[in-house]
Amino acid sequence: MKAEKVMAAVRGGRLHGLLDTLAGFGALPTGGMNRQALSDEDFAARAWLIGEAQRIGCRVWTDACANLFIRRDGLEDLPPVMTGSHIDTQPSGGHLDGCYGVMAGLECLLALHDQGLRTRRPIELVVWTNEEGSRFSPGAMGSSAFVEPQRMSAYRDSRDAAGVSVAEALDAHARRFAELPLRERIAAHAFVELHIEQGPVLERAGVPLGVVSGVQGVRWYQVRCRGASAHAGTTPMDMRQDALLLATGCLPAIDALAERLAGADKRLTFGRWQVLPNSINTVAGEATFTIDFRHADPAVLAAFDAELPACLPDAADLQPLFSHPPVAFDAVVIGVLQQAVEATGEASLSLRSGAFHDAMYLATHCPTSMLFVPSRDGISHNPREYTEPSQLEAGARALAWSLVQLADQA
Ligand SMILES: [Zn+2]
Repeated sequence: MKAEKVMAAVRGGRLHGLLDTLAGFGALPTGGMNRQALSDEDFAARAWLIGEAQRIGCRVWTDACANLFIRRDGLEDLPPVMTGSHIDTQPSGGHLDGCYGVMAGLECLLALHDQGLRTRRPIELVVWTNEEGSRFSPGAMGSSAFVEPQRMSAYRDSRDAAGVSVAEALDAHARRFAELPLRERIAAHAFVELHIEQGPVLERAGVPLGVVSGVQGVRWYQVRCRGASAHAGTTPMDMRQDALLLATGCLPAIDALAERLAGADKRLTFGRWQVLPNSINTVAGEATFTIDFRHADPAVLAAFDAELPACLPDAADLQPLFSHPPVAFDAVVIGVLQQAVEATGEASLSLRSGAFHDAMYLATHCPTSMLFVPSRDGISHNPREYTEPSQLEAGARALAWSLVQLADQA
């Protein structure tokens, strides 16, 4: 009954107001958002959020990566149920990516407060630092540092385009929020992240909610093909070693490999290209491109790793850049989310996340899953990012139900 009560106390108008207020920090005159991690805009948004949380009696901590932990105490001092996401954005981002999960989490705390209800376990709303990775590399910095604190020493040296290091930006955060106590990693009972889908699956199915079963794995490679730069006007074709022709020539073989291994689930991208000397009248002497291949099955990823070298020309140099295994979310949390969706009376489907999220790292720390709401036209990382207000409200109601249910577990 408690979960239903809190779910019914979620107020759509208030949720939209919270999203509008947050969107004011770093709003671009042309529409959309630019709120980089640990920037002045981010600090202003954090200060506002902390004030809202303290007004309803929540306690707030930070940690070595400036993650914010906003706790509504439970009846017992047990490991909390965590929810949250990120409030940094792409340089020309939308107002929902990450922000929706944090504002919906705050709306759940407000609904609990309105009802004067306490859960058995504490509920913590978390803001993970630098999820986007657009100011500092890598992304999901805060959540990955939370689950593996030893990552921090490398992260602190990462610098933005202006030369500011993460260490300096963290110092600025510590000065601005000097009153916040620091906390080490703690055990958590569960983590639930509510997010926009950033893809077309829910919209195509005409369904307002998705329960996420896991995140597909990824392989990133860089391929460098060497040729010989030469004069475009004087070098006969049969005497050329054109690096760009070598590079583009192997794309069909890589594409065919991905197609054979993945079929309809193929996700293959040749996203970044560098051609040297990149001159209109010189044959390319060197061509470098990247491969992004994703799949949910570790065996498919391993087969791609094994067979990729045979697709490349002899003169190519293959360098792995990054890899992450597929993540399967927790069956118990998935079950609670399915019950939560049923409690809202909305239709849902089960889907896998195509994008990375903080939840991918939290899944290594505690039972974790995610809820998705539709993204219009599948668009995200773009000022045109949009979700129907009724769908945003449905997601917040499902989140409220699941948080209360999980927080009342033994
Ligand atoms: Zn996000």
